[in-house]
Amino acid sequence: MSAIPNPSRDTRDIRQGRNPTRTVRIGCLGIGRGHPIAVQSMCATKTQDVEATAAQAEMLRQAGAAVVRIAVDSEADAQALVRIRDRTAVALTVDLQENYRLVVQVAPLVQKVRYNPGHLYHHQKDVPWEDKVRFIAEAAAKHGCALRVGVNCGSVDPALRDKFPPRDKLSPMLESALRHCELLDRLGFDQYCVSLKDSDPAKVIEINRRFAAQRPDVPLHLGVTEAGMPPEGILKTRSALVPLLAEGIGDTIRVSLTLPNARKHEEVAAGLDIVRDVVAGRISVQPWRSGQLNIVSCPSCSRVENAAFVELAEKVRSMTQYAAEANVTIAVMGCRVNGPGETDCADLGLWCGPRYVNLKRGSQTLGSFGYDEILPRLKQELDLILADRKRDDRGAPLQ
Ligand code: SF4
Repeated sequence: MSAIPNPSRDTRDIRQGRNPTRTVRIGCLGIGRGHPIAVQSMCATKTQDVEATAAQAEMLRQAGAAVVRIAVDSEADAQALVRIRDRTAVALTVDLQENYRLVVQVAPLVQKVRYNPGHLYHHQKDVPWEDKVRFIAEAAAKHGCALRVGVNCGSVDPALRDKFPPRDKLSPMLESALRHCELLDRLGFDQYCVSLKDSDPAKVIEINRRFAAQRPDVPLHLGVTEAGMPPEGILKTRSALVPLLAEGIGDTIRVSLTLPNARKHEEVAAGLDIVRDVVAGRISVQPWRSGQLNIVSCPSCSRVENAAFVELAEKVRSMTQYAAEANVTIAVMGCRVNGPGETDCADLGLWCGPRYVNLKRGSQTLGSFGYDEILPRLKQELDLILADRKRDDRGAPLQ
């Protein structure tokens, strides 16, 4: 495999005045104290399509990604990973979901494993989450693998979610991350970083500031989850990551964009631009506009259930332009695993199945519709929301 200069590692060190995080080793890459900000990315191909996944991992490496993530949900995915590992030189990280026991198979093959605390509750409900984390940490330690505790707004530990008022979305995420850090510390495992991702840039800033104030030693992986399509997805991500990096918070980043596979490298380019701008002191960004139409869409991954997902997200954006000034959020997700939870924040949520697209308005599920039926049905619901808002505005008492 040819050695390609990695632009994310060539950027000048910007760590003066940064949070004094410890070093976490991801293979021969270091993140945290004294190390440049590393840009990461994730494959959106089917993991079992070894050639396509290895080719995409290499494409991302050549674009400057220092670490590339691959979803592994099954034994067959883990077996495919053996062959992918041989075909790319990039540092690999595996994204585990419910099936945390796969860590035993993947840890010998990769440099890092990401687990989501909110997904440790689905399998083996009688096994305490602490035992599951111990299992993961032991496998990681045995193979010199780093961990990421990846907390996501759409899949928070249900017990913690219920502990706080429904309006407080950030405290359950923060407490979840802190608990996992404390447990890993007790287990004597310090090669971990944390991410706290939300689709709202303002929340990403707030929660990472809160975490960094309490755990300045733990390296942070920054990102805005489901940022959507470029250019909006890039602007959204910049509006959160640039201020955080400029104040010394964040050790590695990912820009999560909804893109066709052939353009996936653009999310690496967007991440490198962010790092370069912060290094150069270009840290002035517009806060992400709120109060206007907001399309939230996932970057897709191996779990995406229909290749038409990216095209669907693009069609949703075009079709809804007539409502550009409306304060409405529409979420478009690629799979049924994460779709229902990760559309909770939206006025209208869509998530893809193999043959149908599921639709909900707020928390009310409206049904499943064919890929050729969903746009008119979505428009119908959007029109109802716009009409309700107009009626509310007319009925609002004068201040
Ligand atoms: S919503 Fe599903 S398809 Fe989209 S990135 Fe998340 S897991 Fe992957």
